Amino acid sequence: MRIADFAFRHPGLDRAEPMRTHPAELDAAWADARLLVLNEQGEACCYSASEIYYPATRVSLRRPESATLLGFDAGQATFALPLDALAHAPHEAIGIRAAAVQWPEMDAAIFAQAKAILHWQAQSKFCGRCGGLLDLKTAGYSAVCGGCGLASYPQTQPATIMCVSDGKHLLLGRQAAWPEKRWSLLAGFVEPGETPEQTAVREVWEESGVRVARVRYVASQPWPMPMALMVGFDAYAPMQAIHISDELQDARWFSRDELNALVAADELTLPDALSISRYLIMRWLHADSGTAEFWHTRA
Ligand SMILES: [Zn+2]
Repeated sequence: MRIADFAFRHPGLDRAEPMRTHPAELDAAWADARLLVLNEQGEACCYSASEIYYPATRVSLRRPESATLLGFDAGQATFALPLDALAHAPHEAIGIRAAAVQWPEMDAAIFAQAKAILHWQAQSKFCGRCGGLLDLKTAGYSAVCGGCGLASYPQTQPATIMCVSDGKHLLLGRQAAWPEKRWSLLAGFVEPGETPEQTAVREVWEESGVRVARVRYVASQPWPMPMALMVGFDAYAPMQAIHISDELQDARWFSRDELNALVAADELTLPDALSISRYLIMRWLHADSGTAEFWHTRA
């Protein structure tokens, strides 16, 4: 097995935040812009067999209010639009997990951006304070109440995912709802007033009864299903007894040899390709992140 990269880490477009408050420039950019169109399920609707993006002027000669500016690349603007704003029937719809594997990295990153923000917009129809109708502003990046004027902004939900090891063994768990044989790293959402490092320690303790001694940030991944940000950590914990919570069906320590053998025999499956969980596991299997020396010399 080799260490695969993970999806949505490409920097994507220049998001051009100052442009969002310049409608005349956005109107001008529309003339040669392209559109990423998403349906209600959050799937990307491709323009044709060979083109992901719709030419903007094929959809509308003027920039619709509902168009969200995703950003610019080489001077060309990309906007996102919900399918229900279109008359054109899409060629085919593709989900984000499939796109993460099949599309060029930059296009997959643009899809992740569009999916998260259109999800937020779909959830932001009414004011949380007075119940009034919200209007999208700033090219899709804010929603302002017509009644009381309260503004709201896109939300991201940070979650942590932990590669817990004593150097020689890796802690994996599985949930009852997962596909048979699937095991993965423990993970959980950051709570208010908490740092991701604190979440990492707390979630491992709550889910497995394992006390983590140290954590160190590795990498993060936008996970727009629908709007999470996965923050990945290496965590050092001496091998100790496991006491699983109701969230897990099982949790165990695996040695590298054991895990490699189970995967080779198809008795255990790892998380999806291009997820950060798989990346962290593969990185550990290649030994360089979880050895005792690593923690003593570099942490
Ligand atoms: Zn209001």
